[in-house]
Amino acid sequence: PFELKGKTVYVAGHRGMVGAALMRRLAQEDTRLVTIERTEVDLRDQAQVFGWFARTRPQVVFLAAAKVGGIVANDTLRAEFLYDNITIAANVIHAAHLNGAEKLMFLGSSCIYPKLAPQPLRGDMILTGPLEPTNEPYAIAKIAGIKLVEAYRSQYGSDFISVMPSNLYGPGDNYHPEYSHVVAALIRRFHEAKISGVKSVLVWGTGTPRREFLYVEDMADACVQLMKIYSGAELINIGTGEDVTILEFARLVAEVVGYRGEIAFDASRPDGTPRKLLDVSRLAELGWRAKTSLNDGIQQAYRAFLNLRED
Ligand code: GDP
Repeated sequence: PFELKGKTVYVAGHRGMVGAALMRRLAQEDTRLVTIERTEVDLRDQAQVFGWFARTRPQVVFLAAAKVGGIVANDTLRAEFLYDNITIAANVIHAAHLNGAEKLMFLGSSCIYPKLAPQPLRGDMILTGPLEPTNEPYAIAKIAGIKLVEAYRSQYGSDFISVMPSNLYGPGDNYHPEYSHVVAALIRRFHEAKISGVKSVLVWGTGTPRREFLYVEDMADACVQLMKIYSGAELINIGTGEDVTILEFARLVAEVVGYRGEIAFDASRPDGTPRKLLDVSRLAELGWRAKTSLNDGIQQAYRAFLNLRED
């Protein structure tokens, strides 16, 4: 196994939901954790990134920095989602290579798989069909990152690996009413309806798409474990292996939040991909499985949301 102990470990994106969870998880390991604020090094700026890597020389890199958002953010900010993410991936991966990083983990997404790929999704289904149009820019940037990892592995023998999480949620999520992902959006919308006594809440789309949700603390734990034990070329999916419809999901969030009104659907809003259930058999073989049930995770996410509101 790869030893993290005593290493200089860099988390790119430590202010984001996943990066912050990785920081908490890595605090349990005996490493020297390094981060850099966005105001000092913009990861889209090649010279800044190369300069910082040359000075800091991290031995281990978790590449969790990305411009992210829900279905409408992805579909609206198409230029930013493509440019920012492709540039961040290219700069950080090449800087890690130039400065002798021993290991790098690139965080992708389940949206890199073709829109109508057979379910559950396996790593080898990448680039076998057209992508979901709403998040094609983000997916293309993530595919570019995966291909960089693959190319540095094959050309230089770098110990760079890629992992694909399903839809993530938890503490540190973004609650923007328009640009958030569905979990944060519904926690906020149902909570506000409960508080103000509104009797009907609109949920986007038809309610029929299926999504697999993974609690971010589980994601961070899987990443740290895989960093230690996995050095292969295959993409590793990280998820629970179980999905729910958006209608079922909305009912669950309403129950956790204590909203008792009607749940209505706004079909003028996009559904996105019909389903993206991950095949997590490789992860199971590697000895990892998710610990947090969807119900527990939503309760913890709701508590984190309430804490934000109170301070
Ligand atoms: P996606 O997995 O990339 O589509 O990410 P999202 O988390 O944005 O959306 C997941 C699913 O939830 C889609 O089918 C959306 O149509 C649905 N959804 C329902 N209500 C909302 C909402 O208020 N915000 C978002 N972002 N999605 C919603």
